[in-house]
Amino acid sequence: MCQVSKGAVPELASESNPDDKRPRYRLIKREGLAKRGEFTTIHGTIQTPVFMNVGTAAAIKGAVSTMDLQEIKTQVQLSNTYHLHVRPGDGLIKELGGLSAFMNWDKPILTDSGGFQVFSLAKLRKIKEEGVHFNSHIDGRKIFMGPEESMRIQSNLGSTIAMAFDECPSSVADKDYIKASVERTTRWLLRCKSEMARLNQEEDTLNKGQLLFAINQGGVYDDLRIEHAKEIATHDLDGYAIGGLAVGESHEEMYRVLEAVVPHLPIDKPTYLMGVGTPVNLLEGVERGVDFFDCVYPSRNGRHGHLYTNQGKLNLYNKIFEKDTAPIEAGCDCPACLHYSRAYIRHLLKAKEMLGMRLCVLHNLYFYNTMMEEIRAALEAGDFAGYKERKLAGFCERG
Ligand SMILES: [Zn+2]
Repeated sequence: MCQVSKGAVPELASESNPDDKRPRYRLIKREGLAKRGEFTTIHGTIQTPVFMNVGTAAAIKGAVSTMDLQEIKTQVQLSNTYHLHVRPGDGLIKELGGLSAFMNWDKPILTDSGGFQVFSLAKLRKIKEEGVHFNSHIDGRKIFMGPEESMRIQSNLGSTIAMAFDECPSSVADKDYIKASVERTTRWLLRCKSEMARLNQEEDTLNKGQLLFAINQGGVYDDLRIEHAKEIATHDLDGYAIGGLAVGESHEEMYRVLEAVVPHLPIDKPTYLMGVGTPVNLLEGVERGVDFFDCVYPSRNGRHGHLYTNQGKLNLYNKIFEKDTAPIEAGCDCPACLHYSRAYIRHLLKAKEMLGMRLCVLHNLYFYNTMMEEIRAALEAGDFAGYKERKLAGFCERG
């Protein structure tokens, strides 16, 4: 199944020097295009491939605390710049010591640039070369956000990894529009990079080692995607994301774009597929060379009683679980499965008890984090292809 890498494989990094605190990506092992790596940051080392758990407004929806996250093997928490800028305000978070102190989370945090929310949530937006004018979706107040503003907000939040400010054009936009948009996104990237460099030198900056990832765009047009990937690869960012996917195109189109783009991104930097996806999408993404993923699916589906298992998804609202004393998944060591039955959690959901949602979200995130752990072990053992095949066969069992 796995394809052979088109690019030259770089030398594996030498043993790490404990005095060397610079961020670095170490490629530990490859199988086809799939990468097993580790990324060292000032907030700790991230083992990849990794699934980042999405805490939109500095919390994972479903009453999940940062203590819970330690228990369910979360490595990186993602927070949304736009949401935190609108409420409670990045200035306030900076005053309170940054996101790490605010949330009491001492592991890595990735903040998005705000771009995706500006383009998907905000009303009455106007895109100009300097940035985007829009109205807050909370109270309608006028806000301007450009590359420099996004960097300043993320610097105030003090996240480990900041994302460059990009435009996310509609996937159905015509090619001429997307081409012009991608060119603007490149100009915005250079502005982000210089603003981030300036901010990291400032006396009162919370995280002077804040990292910056670039974002590849280009819709479903392989030629625009590849041209953009080659361009951003020359600018020596800390990591490279692929954005603008999982927004309505088919899974096959998404996989095709990944196959086209990933070989043109630096192999010695982490690759991040934004906003993706299902467990199957993660397996397919890893096979195509992706290191970082994030998605709201496990938490959102959990809140609706839709649970991931190794035999496929189950809907706990289904009446067949009314008297089922088994855990959500036998053998799962998550806090829900260790202590409670399907029947009890189903009752909580139907009674709209918050604990029901919470247990389901914990199970789903634990399922994702555990699957990534298994993927890393399979890559180390040189058995990712076999692992993927067995996993996909299992997902089909429940139909
Ligand atoms: Zn479980």
